[in-house]
Amino acid sequence: MTSRRESLRWIGAALASAPALFGQQSQAIIGSVPGKPWLSSTRREFTAPELLDAPDEWIERSFGWVDDMLRRFPPSLPEHPVRRAALIRLDDILHIGSAPQKPVVQSYFKRRMEAAIAEIEATRVTRGARIWKLYNHGFLVRTPTVSWTYDIVPGPPRIDGFRISPEQVVRLAAQSDATFISHLHNDHANEEVAAAFLERGKPAVAPEGLWKENAAFATKLTYPKRSTTELTKLPVQKGAQVLEVVAYPGHQGASILNNVHLVRSPERFTTMQTGDQSNVGDFEWLAQVGAQHKIDVLLPNCWTTDIQRLARGTNPRLILTGHENEMAHTVPHREDYTQTWQHLHGSGYPLLLLTWGESYTIA
Ligand SMILES: [Zn+2]
Ligand SMILES: [Zn+2]
Repeated sequence: MTSRRESLRWIGAALASAPALFGQQSQAIIGSVPGKPWLSSTRREFTAPELLDAPDEWIERSFGWVDDMLRRFPPSLPEHPVRRAALIRLDDILHIGSAPQKPVVQSYFKRRMEAAIAEIEATRVTRGARIWKLYNHGFLVRTPTVSWTYDIVPGPPRIDGFRISPEQVVRLAAQSDATFISHLHNDHANEEVAAAFLERGKPAVAPEGLWKENAAFATKLTYPKRSTTELTKLPVQKGAQVLEVVAYPGHQGASILNNVHLVRSPERFTTMQTGDQSNVGDFEWLAQVGAQHKIDVLLPNCWTTDIQRLARGTNPRLILTGHENEMAHTVPHREDYTQTWQHLHGSGYPLLLLTWGESYTIA
């Protein structure tokens, strides 16, 4: 049996031999959880310990295997167990402290995003809806008549080389009739993306006051009334179609305005994306949403406060989580898939976990 002191010594030696491999934060906290020297954070209690680094050769082969498995076992209910293995392998790679800076990881991200954009460009939906998961909490929803997007960003903030190109941003905007921005944080809100929509005469819908310091830009945004009851009719496609929108008055923490956007297509297909919703006080109205509206797909932030309570309140037909693996976050806050399975285990609601660029068709 290895004593805690020996374990810490081993971890210390590993750290010393690989000083450039991971960020200061990881160094500071591995072994800091009392009685659990293998843990870097209590947030990672139910996830196997992260790698400190890995050879590009192993990462590249892993990506090859992951993509092969995801292609052969696309998202389905019930979820095929091989998908779980593939997503956990992605977590293994993406939770290396230096993963955001690794060219092999950046090019994997860019490959998957290009494939998704090309697929979106080539896809017409004839019934039900198809939903693509893009980066972080970004989604594109397409029905036979309309398409809309949520929280589209080119990639993690502040990481050069880990983003899609301006041309790809424009191509995405061309595929979506409107875009919805939950709140001001730059892993959700991006001015370049909003501008790409506005320049094409497409609505960019945002919480009151977003980018108000740039008045000329802000006046072009659509600020729906934050309300639990008000249904906004949002014309799209130059008035040829109308989306119905409820901008629920959510919050991240106590005070950051976070619109929880319910969007309904002309076919009455309804999605609700939560942004970084986390305020416990909002359960007062969140508990009523499922009684007010039939939600087809809930698109929650995987780390939200009491996600099972959110699920019961909104009563969706399906949950597709977002916000896993936000690469600008430190390792303990780069939420992993295992945590999502753990948080929603036993909820009774159908759940699918998707990675960058995957999609699912719901009848
Ligand atoms: Zn946020
Ligand atoms: Zn966020």
